[in-house]
Amino acid sequence: MTRLDASVTELTGVGEALAGKLARLGIRQVADLLLHLPLRYQDRTRITPIGTLRAGMEVVVEGEVAAAEVVKGRRRSLLVRLKDGSGILSLRFFHFSPAQQQQFHPGVVVRGFGEARAGATGLELYHPEYRLVTPGETPVEDHLTPIYPATEGLTQPRLRGLIAQALAALDADPAALPDAIPGPLRERFRLPELHACLHYLHEPPPDADLERLASGTHPTQRRLALEELLAHQLSLRQVRLRIQADGAPALPSGRSLQARFVAQLPFSLTGAQRRVLDEIARDLETERPMLRLVQGDVGSGKTVVAALAALAAIAGDCQVAVMAPTELLAEQHFRNFRDWFAPLGVDVAWLAGKLKGKARLDTKAAIADGRARVVVGTHALFQDDVHFQRLGLAIVDEQHRFGVHQRLALRQKGEAGGLTPHQLIMTATPIPRTLAMSAYADLDLSVIDELPPGRTPVQTVAVADERRPEVVARIRHACAEGRQAYWVCTLIEESEALQCQAAEATRDALTEALPELAVGLVHGRMKAAEKAAVMDAFKAGELDLLVATTVIEVGVDVPNASLMIIENPERLGLSQLHQLRGRVGRGSTESFCVLLYHPPLSAHSRERLAVMRETGDGFRIAEKDLELRGPGEVLGTRQTGLAQMKIADLERDRDLLERLDPLARALLAEAPEAAETLIRRWLGEEAGRYGQV
Ligand code: ADP
Ligand code: MG
Repeated sequence: MTRLDASVTELTGVGEALAGKLARLGIRQVADLLLHLPLRYQDRTRITPIGTLRAGMEVVVEGEVAAAEVVKGRRRSLLVRLKDGSGILSLRFFHFSPAQQQQFHPGVVVRGFGEARAGATGLELYHPEYRLVTPGETPVEDHLTPIYPATEGLTQPRLRGLIAQALAALDADPAALPDAIPGPLRERFRLPELHACLHYLHEPPPDADLERLASGTHPTQRRLALEELLAHQLSLRQVRLRIQADGAPALPSGRSLQARFVAQLPFSLTGAQRRVLDEIARDLETERPMLRLVQGDVGSGKTVVAALAALAAIAGDCQVAVMAPTELLAEQHFRNFRDWFAPLGVDVAWLAGKLKGKARLDTKAAIADGRARVVVGTHALFQDDVHFQRLGLAIVDEQHRFGVHQRLALRQKGEAGGLTPHQLIMTATPIPRTLAMSAYADLDLSVIDELPPGRTPVQTVAVADERRPEVVARIRHACAEGRQAYWVCTLIEESEALQCQAAEATRDALTEALPELAVGLVHGRMKAAEKAAVMDAFKAGELDLLVATTVIEVGVDVPNASLMIIENPERLGLSQLHQLRGRVGRGSTESFCVLLYHPPLSAHSRERLAVMRETGDGFRIAEKDLELRGPGEVLGTRQTGLAQMKIADLERDRDLLERLDPLARALLAEAPEAAETLIRRWLGEEAGRYGQV
C-alpha cells in the first residue's frame, strides 16, 4: 500500500509524464490528491427513464438499440436510436470507428451518460460516455461522480482512479493524515472530522445536497475552507513570532521632540491621529519589534503620523527608513520630511534606484555611518548593499504593494547589535476588519477613522466622453478662478510605453484646446528629476493643468487642485478610483471629479460608477469593491497568498473569518503542535518560503 507522504510516482500507473501533469495542479505527494477537491458532481447513481428527459438534463439512460446508422447531415455522424419503453432517444457520435459502429446491433442494451439536447431527431446525447450492459446486472454508481480541476492530457477517469488509490491509502493508515484539530475543539466549533469530510467530498452519497455542494457551502467544504484559512492565519502568526523573537531598540523618549514638531505644524492633530500615535508610542517603548498596520482613508493624514513615529526613533538615537512604492511618492515624502525636520536639525537622505554614481556612494556612506538619520526612498532602500548604522524604525507606505517577504527581509537591516527594526506599515486600502485580521494576521491594526476638519466632499459626476468639450470648458472655468486640475489617462494595455504615449497625446490635445493654460505632463517613463520638476511646478501653481497616468494614484498632495478628470474610469477598480479621487478635495474649496467614460457601459460598470458618485467613504467603497471584484483583486495577489487558496474563498467564506481568530487561539493553547502540521499541509512550499527569509 502506498504511503500518503510518498511521491505520486509510487502510485500504480503514474510515470514521470503523468507526475509532471499532476505537479501542474500542485499535486506532488499522494496526500495532495486528497486535498484536490471536485469542482462539481454528476449524478450517475440512477437511471432516468427516457420519457422523462428534458433538454439540459445531465443523466444516465439505459435502453435497447432500435437502429444504428451513419447519417449525412451537415457533418457525417453515427446515430444510435435507443428505446426503453418510456420513450426514444438518439446517441450521436461525430467521431467514431468502424468497430464502434459494429457494436450497436439492434437489441443490445446500452447505458449512456451525457447531457440531453434538442437535436434533429428530438432529444439527443452528443458523444455520451457509454457502455454495453446486461440489464439488471450492471450496477449503477453508488456515489455521485466528482469532476475535478484537471489539466491538458489528464482525464477525469484517470484522476478519479488516482484519488481512489489515495483514499485507500488513507483508510489503510489514517494516522498518516491526522486531523490537526483535536476532537474537543471540533466539537466546540462544530466541525466535522477531517477524514469524513474527505470521503464525503470525493464520494458523496446519492442523496447528497448537490446545491450546497455546488455553492461550496456544505459543512464538509466549510470545515476544509476553515482549516485552510486557519493554516494561512497561523503561518502569518508564525512570521510575527519569528520577527518578534528578536529584540528591537526600546524608544520611549520621543515626547519632547514630537511636541516641538507638532508646535510648528499649521494645524492640530485630529483625535484619530492622536489615538493612533498613542498606540504606536506604546509599541515603540518596548523591546519587542512593533508590527503595526495603520489604515487610514485617503487624506486622513497618515504622513504626519509617520513623521511623528520617526521622531521617536530619532530621539532614541536610531535611524529611520521610509519606503514608498513609487519614486514619485518617495520623492514627495522626502521633501515633506526634509522640510519638516530641517528646523529640528535632523538630516534626511534620499535613495532610489535611479540615484547613481558618486551621489549613491555618498548617500550609502551617510546611511552606514549614521549621519543620515532619516532615509526616504523606494525599495532600493532594502537592497543588500545598503547598510544602516542603527536602523530602529522602518516605515512602509502603501502596504498593498509590499508583501510578507519584504517584511521579513527587514529583520536583517537592523544589523548592528542584532536588533530588528520596528515596523510601521501604512495603507489607504480600507479593507474590512475581519478580512484585515486574516490577511494581515502578522500585524496589529490601527485605524485613522477621521478626516481632518474643513474638508468638503468631492462632488463626483459621470459624463460620457462625447461631451468632452463641456469638460474642457469646465477646466477652463476652474483654472480661470485660480484653481488647478488633474487629467488622468488610463489605458487597458499593460504596456507602460503605450500609456505614456496616450498621456502625451492627451497633453497635446489639451494644450491646443486650452491655449491660455499652462499644461504639464507626468508619467511613469520620465526621469525622477523630470517628474519631480513637473510636480514642483504644479504644486507651486506654475502649471494649471496636470495630465498624468495613474502614477499619481498614491499619495500625491496638492491642496489647490480641486478638479480631476478621470478618463475611462470603467477600466479601474473602485479602490483605485477612490485613491485617484483622493488627490482632490484636500483644500477647503469645493472639489469635483468627472468620470469621463466611454459608452456604452456594462451594467456592472454603471453600478461601479454609481458607487463612486454616491459615496466618498473609503470603507463603503472597499466593501462594494470586495463585493464586485472579490478579495483577490482588491487585496492584490502578491502580498498575502490568501488569493491563491485551494478551497477557501474569501468572499463566499467571509463569515468563517470571524470564527478564525477564536479557533486559532484555542488551537495554539490546546494543541500548539498542530499549527506546524496545518501550515505544511496547506501552504506546503510557500510556508517554507516564508520561513527562509
Ligand atoms: P494620506 O493619509 O492620504 O497619506 P496625507 O498625509 O497626505 O494623507 O495628508 C493629507 C493632507 O492633510 C496633507 O496636506 C496634510 O498636511 C494634511 N493634514 C494632515 N493632518 C491634518 C490635520 N490634523 N489637520 C489638517 N490637515 C492635516
Ligand atoms: Mg499618503
